[in-house]
Amino acid sequence: MKYKFCPLCGRKLEERYSWDEGGVPYCSKDDMMFFDTPKPCIMVAVVKGDEILLLKQSYIYKNSKVLLTGYVDNNETAEEAVEREVREESGIEVNNITYLGSDYVKDKEILMITFMADYVSGEIKKSDEVEGMGWSKLSNALNEMKEDEIGLRVVKKIIEIKK
Ligand SMILES: [Zn+2]
Repeated sequence: MKYKFCPLCGRKLEERYSWDEGGVPYCSKDDMMFFDTPKPCIMVAVVKGDEILLLKQSYIYKNSKVLLTGYVDNNETAEEAVEREVREESGIEVNNITYLGSDYVKDKEILMITFMADYVSGEIKKSDEVEGMGWSKLSNALNEMKEDEIGLRVVKKIIEIKK
């Protein structure tokens, strides 16, 4: 997002030259540069034996299940966001959080950082924000999540790793 006004004090931003970035919107009152950066978001495939945790969120994809996602909060690492989002949305504890790569979601200005994690404990107790949630066979997951492009790539990587 290209800032025109300072999100802290509201004054019009000037342009300040940053040697590696070129002109960057800058507020002289707050002495802060506002870089055009994406929002970091995590996506995680929770794996339990030969099963994987899938969500149904019709507002994202009508006919497809998705992997669990969430925004990274300020003051936390991507791995901490994975643990927190899984706990908040599903009531499950995970470990062995493994980075699988990142994707850029153009129309949403999101940097999607993808992970797999192992189920440790807990019964599924979905949050009110989630429409549906359950364990699916890893071997059938690709059929159930046809519209979730990034999720499909994540599951394909996991199937490769588990071979
Ligand atoms: Zn300002």
